[in-house]
Amino acid sequence: MGYTLGQMEIRRLKPSSLSIIRQGSDDRSAWADVAILGTQLTATPEVAERLLLKHPSLALHACKSSLPIPHQAFIPEDSHVDPATFGLLPNAQEDKGLFGEHLPGALLPHALEHLAIDLLVVRFPDETFAGNTCWLEREEQIMRVRISLPKEAGPAPVSQALLDAAALLNEMLI
Ligand SMILES: [Zn+2]
Repeated sequence: MGYTLGQMEIRRLKPSSLSIIRQGSDDRSAWADVAILGTQLTATPEVAERLLLKHPSLALHACKSSLPIPHQAFIPEDSHVDPATFGLLPNAQEDKGLFGEHLPGALLPHALEHLAIDLLVVRFPDETFAGNTCWLEREEQIMRVRISLPKEAGPAPVSQALLDAAALLNEMLI
């Protein structure tokens, strides 16, 4: 069927993937700069379904927004973001709800943030994690994902969870 590839088919052959290009931490949070490679910036309904099938608890995460984040949500390289202020950042709209509602159409690094938190909660069941995802370089399709640290541990488990989440998500983007 069909001798030429429609746009949908090309998209299927060349899906987007996520690449962590930098990581860092401070005394309260760890972050990853995530580049979206490809033209599909958001989770399709199919990706959302696959993700929720493997990680059903994602649906119950509290989530303030999956709205496209304005460019002015830029965070300078060296700025310190207190997890307590996460809720005040520009992407935190009044739109409170559950991530299950936001996931279809969510920006892929935002999905990565929630997946990393989901992995951390398994490892630190008594902790509450705060996360935030902002555009860092809009034209380069790079977002910074930041997650608060568990009380009894340093940044290593959070940095690892961000890497693991990127690998898991990339498998689902194929
Ligand atoms: Zn969220």
